[in-house]
Amino acid sequence: MLMSNSLHNVVIGVLGLQGDFEKHVEMLRRIDGVAPLIARTPEEVRVCDGLIIPGGESTTVGKLMVRYGVDEAIKSRVREGMPIFGTCTGMILLAREIEGSEQYRLGLMDITVRRNAFGRQIDSFETDLQIPAICDSRPLRAVFIRAPIVSEVRGSAEVLSRLADGRIVMVRQGPHLAAAFHPELTDDTRIHEYFVNVVRRFTPTALNTK
Ligand code: GLN
Repeated sequence: MLMSNSLHNVVIGVLGLQGDFEKHVEMLRRIDGVAPLIARTPEEVRVCDGLIIPGGESTTVGKLMVRYGVDEAIKSRVREGMPIFGTCTGMILLAREIEGSEQYRLGLMDITVRRNAFGRQIDSFETDLQIPAICDSRPLRAVFIRAPIVSEVRGSAEVLSRLADGRIVMVRQGPHLAAAFHPELTDDTRIHEYFVNVVRRFTPTALNTK
């Protein structure tokens, strides 16, 4: 349900089919001028100016998206210019290629991802990331949970951040952003603020039409 929607707000949906969506909503509540919305139906997706696809289990979320017709609603809003930010499972669903898997994906970014890239020994970990385009010189504490990595970047997709060993963990292509980590699990709102600014830029009418 839409929680509030004044003249000054952009509506940022968080796909709420499965997984870690509440924490994203809490994060968005801390940013001025944002009306967060848990989006579960095609109708709810249609009123979003931007959409976050949170962490979870990518095969499950993909199946549920198709079952409820949310996939088609997302694609149609993307054709109209809606930006998407995928975190972890969301990154997998944005990728055009998923190594060794035929599972459902939206395929909106020219990247290849490898699921569970850190293996069983390192289920989850935290590290300080440099993300020059977003975070100046102050690194971002990033939480990785059974995380994927980006194994290939093509076309106009660009790398925003790498681990110290060079593996790619954040990318952008046009209006779409993808991160292998969980920016909703710290107190740092910089990544969400960056996405909200992308949404404002790509939906210039958002301030006037809602
Ligand atoms: N390993 C999960 C998958 O493949 C992603 C984990 C996450 O979203 N934290 O979907």
